[in-house]
Amino acid sequence: MNGTLTFLGTGTSMGVPTLGCACAVCTSPDLRDRRLRPSVVVRWTEPASARHRVVLIDTGPDFREQALRAAINRVDAVLYTHSHADHILGLDDLRPLSFTAFRENGPIPLYATPETTLVLEHIFAYTFSPDATYPNRARVRIEPVAESNPIHGVNFLRVPVFHGDMEIVGYRFGSAAYLTDVSAIPEASFPLLEGLDHLVLSALRYKPHPSHATVDQAIGWARRIGARHTWLTHIAHELGHEATNQNLPDGIALAYDGLTVPVTL
Ligand SMILES: [Zn+2]
Ligand SMILES: [Zn+2]
Repeated sequence: MNGTLTFLGTGTSMGVPTLGCACAVCTSPDLRDRRLRPSVVVRWTEPASARHRVVLIDTGPDFREQALRAAINRVDAVLYTHSHADHILGLDDLRPLSFTAFRENGPIPLYATPETTLVLEHIFAYTFSPDATYPNRARVRIEPVAESNPIHGVNFLRVPVFHGDMEIVGYRFGSAAYLTDVSAIPEASFPLLEGLDHLVLSALRYKPHPSHATVDQAIGWARRIGARHTWLTHIAHELGHEATNQNLPDGIALAYDGLTVPVTL
């Protein structure tokens, strides 16, 4: 089955331009140097129902603007990678789309680990608490992330990765995989990443960081995994799009907001 993968945001947690910064990348006229917080959308048409399906990986603080830009007018599910603010804070902006989804299929499923669930239930207590009475709360329900998560004909496999000390979730779907906020990939996850056309890996900058991979670490994993195309995301303002891309090996490039690639699902 054919589908698409669109990068809704490719920036690190603070976004690029970074507030208060006047560096060359933050003031660059190149639109590919403007990076919203990291998230992707996977879209396809389900043969059984002929319905257009839309699955988000994370809903960051820029979700509303990203949905407008990418013409997202429905959401069938959200898969969360972890509970950091740059990956979850747009959950509330699912509200208008959740009202339509609710009439069709019930609440939108949000796939989350127990750890992410605790944070979502705390921050969005007015949505999830059994005592919630706010009438316009998002019509969503939390589903535990399993090893494989079938959603309207596409299987999203959980790929465990490390983000500093935290074990978080990457996803493989068809011939693509999305691994963000990675600082280490456990040996057991490599077999889940064989035969990829598109691999998305986070790479913050060149200088080491305790919980994010550098460009060179990402290149090392990209070579080992051997996807046809590797796209780097979760990018800080140290990396200018054009200059960085010129120094990357063939088959590896920085992603940018709005980039869409075809994927086999
Ligand atoms: Zn992040
Ligand atoms: Zn994070």
